[in-house]
Amino acid sequence: MSQFTLSRRHFLGASAGFIALHPFSANAATNQAHLRIMETTDLHVHVFPYDYYADKPRDTVGLARTASHVKLIRAEATNSMLIDNGDFLQGNPMGDYIAYERGMKDGDMHPVITAMNAVGFDASTLGNHEFNYGLDFLMKSLAGADFPVICANVALEEGGSPTKDKTLIKPYVILDREITDGAGETHPIKVGLIGFVPPQVMNWDRRHLEGNVVARDIVDTAKAYVPVMKEQGCDLIIALSHSGIGDADHSDGMENASVPLAAVDGIDAVLTGHHHRVFPSSAYDGMAGVDVASGTIMGKPAAMGGFWGSHLGLIDLMLERSGNEWKIVSHSSEARPISKRNDDRSITALVESQQDVLDSVQADHDATLAYVRRAVGKTDAPLHSYFALVADDPSVQIVSIAQLWYIEQMMKGTEYEGLPILSAAAPFKAGGRGGPEYFTDVAKGDVAIKNVSDLYLYPNTARAVKVTGQQVKDWLERSAGIFNQVEAGKADQVLLNPDFPSYNFDVIDGVTYQIDLSQPSKFDPKGTLTNADANRIVDLMFDGKPLDMNAEFIIATNNYRAGGGGKFPGAMGDTVVFEGPDTNRDVIVRYIVEKGTISPRADANWTFAPLPGTSVLFDTGPKAADYAADVQGVSIAPAGEGPDGFARFRIDL
Ligand code: MN
Ligand code: MG
Repeated sequence: MSQFTLSRRHFLGASAGFIALHPFSANAATNQAHLRIMETTDLHVHVFPYDYYADKPRDTVGLARTASHVKLIRAEATNSMLIDNGDFLQGNPMGDYIAYERGMKDGDMHPVITAMNAVGFDASTLGNHEFNYGLDFLMKSLAGADFPVICANVALEEGGSPTKDKTLIKPYVILDREITDGAGETHPIKVGLIGFVPPQVMNWDRRHLEGNVVARDIVDTAKAYVPVMKEQGCDLIIALSHSGIGDADHSDGMENASVPLAAVDGIDAVLTGHHHRVFPSSAYDGMAGVDVASGTIMGKPAAMGGFWGSHLGLIDLMLERSGNEWKIVSHSSEARPISKRNDDRSITALVESQQDVLDSVQADHDATLAYVRRAVGKTDAPLHSYFALVADDPSVQIVSIAQLWYIEQMMKGTEYEGLPILSAAAPFKAGGRGGPEYFTDVAKGDVAIKNVSDLYLYPNTARAVKVTGQQVKDWLERSAGIFNQVEAGKADQVLLNPDFPSYNFDVIDGVTYQIDLSQPSKFDPKGTLTNADANRIVDLMFDGKPLDMNAEFIIATNNYRAGGGGKFPGAMGDTVVFEGPDTNRDVIVRYIVEKGTISPRADANWTFAPLPGTSVLFDTGPKAADYAADVQGVSIAPAGEGPDGFARFRIDL
């Protein structure tokens, strides 16, 4: 009937190696049975332990690795089941390859589904990213699954209550299984699974979903369905919550609803996800309704298995039979990592890949490698960061343009639609401690997917904040702290403060401004206000007029900045109006694929304020010489060699 009917005797009788049974399996009494519920979540198409952007193996990811834990756990326990908690279809170049290049025709297999079939899942729910490529793509992908996929809160047609909805896919499934007790006897058990996705999909994937489906509140939907599942004889009900662990108080339409969901009567255990974190772990210490030590949410056993296959979430249940009913008498939760980070920050793999899982998608892996290495678009300007700290720059400009394009779409239909949108981006690869080769450098012409990691180094996610004109100015004052104060009329002063990381040098597009280097910085390199009256940012204009300090703006940025990274005024976590599910990198890939040819020409929207008779020196990569003549808005010339292989340039202010 299913893999979880294999009996304990079967394993003990196996001749080969000795497999230690989990204590629950070893100690189960005659009327007790041990059930292990394994969870993967947020796989994002990671099957191979491979980073396609970097084009090299990576031990921290891959379902082929997580599958080794699955294999062992199945052997350790009398009864087990394996669930995926959603976000499997999108999120790495293999997913983009299928969606943008190969496509999904009727009968095509999606590689992540192929791999999941190879591992053997009992069920899956949908994550928000399942909607990224549209409903047709989703349904064709799901058609290949050997396991049921469920989601209760997305409907093609809304009825008067959730249970009256015509849902997109099955809202829940009741698995009729046999479970083996401590005496080796099998008994029927009905395990009900019900799936939930953040209703924010309606906003995040508006272009695919509006007019086609509606999404309901997670908790309201659960309250409607769970009694129905009970009536249908479920012995156990497990919520597949592709939703994070957030506030304990339910609010309508909340994104991270796993705590109030766990509180719903009749739900026995909760598998969570979406947060890309681990539960139980200290990440959730001290949250209302959450007990990390016992691995519970509102007293119900719970788990979250990281992301990209990094961990296998695991809930162990000791069930006891009284009459015809099963109840949970003890439980434990954990998340098993596939790798560990050593003290020297190196990574050690803790499990090997399962060869059959790799084999199942080898051809798609090879096709993805070819895809990331070949052109998917063109740039009509070189994308380099050699002058990113001294002039408006094409490598920052492309990030800025793509963010703006994305946030404009996300603001549609919200209360913020119509506010002017600015975009903040910083150079990530700009020499410094990274050395003279540590720059973005993509030639004019073809752009390949693997170039995008060069344009956007970090796996940040997109955010929008709402700020005032004053906060825009102070944001820029904070950025301008990267420069040393210079003395007017003096030659060859050192421009950059080496203690100020380039990723905190945000350029804001959508406004124009100059930086007056003769003024002291308003903030120190850590972001502490040190000169309240200082004004390095001058001639700050919006729409050709001086910026109104009281006007409101949206700034497109990333989760690091919006959440207080770098301590930027207006970006301390309290101004966030949009939390995107998409990485900034995905936004750039989508932008390039949609546009075909991109024009990341810097528009010189910021320059240094003129200081006649004054010059500064700065060091950059030697390849900068190829581009020096093209830099707009600044007078720049070679000035010999810098230290450690850097090239030196002089700027006449
Ligand atoms: Mn995810
Ligand atoms: Mg610009």
